[in-house]
Amino acid sequence: MIEVSHLTKRYGEKYAVQDISFDVKDGEILGFLGPNGAGKSTTMNILTGYLSSNEGTVKIDGVDVLERPLEAKKNIGYLPEQPPLYPDMTVDEYLKFVFGLKQCKLGREAHINEICGLVRIQNVRGRLIRNLSKGFKQRVGIAQALIGNPDVLILDEPTVGLDPKQIIEIRTLIKHLSRKHTVILSSHILPEVQSVCERIIIINQGQIVANGTTSELSSQLSSEHRLIARI
Ligand code: ATP
Repeated sequence: MIEVSHLTKRYGEKYAVQDISFDVKDGEILGFLGPNGAGKSTTMNILTGYLSSNEGTVKIDGVDVLERPLEAKKNIGYLPEQPPLYPDMTVDEYLKFVFGLKQCKLGREAHINEICGLVRIQNVRGRLIRNLSKGFKQRVGIAQALIGNPDVLILDEPTVGLDPKQIIEIRTLIKHLSRKHTVILSSHILPEVQSVCERIIIINQGQIVANGTTSELSSQLSSEHRLIARI
């Protein structure tokens, strides 16, 4: 479903991402783990067509994201690290706005109703986004990613800044969503990707340092990797 080949991104002389390659199979849930500054957001932004790379290719369901970003984006739901929520809109207004932006062809009311039910934001649909708790804001961020029923969901650090109860709820929601979507979960928390993901890639200083199933990596993780992941 996702093929990343020899991706490199430089800022001046500095490599944010250096020659990384990996695949994600249809229906898989992949954890993309690394400490602050490792290159996670850079990678997610390139995968979703929001940032260009210096070298390499990304294909989502066979579509080259760098060559045909508009087509590829239709099949990707993205929750960036800082989602562009509009604080003065109500949740309902915002989701209708995103629906229009994505030129979604589904029935608007039924589709938004279904998503609000799935991410459990029915009760706050009439509230201004600025007045929502961080947990509800993240749910709205996930809701906007789901508009258009994309095959691929890319979630960049979706639990950062949440309290423990909200973290558990968002992780449970992500697991639930992975039944219908191929998911990449970017995170700096090893127990988070261990509890949610089938496979884990560890990135550090722009390079992939480990790639394996969660059970393989959990038993094989060297102390160096544990340090990198800041467990
Ligand atoms: P965090 O968890 O802190 O968001 P990250 O793993 O997502 O970290 P990136 O944001 O991808 O890391 O950054 C990777 C490296 O690239 C960092 O050293 C960062 O300072 C650098 N970088 C990112 N964006 C830019 C930019 N626009 N200009 C210069 N350097 C950048």
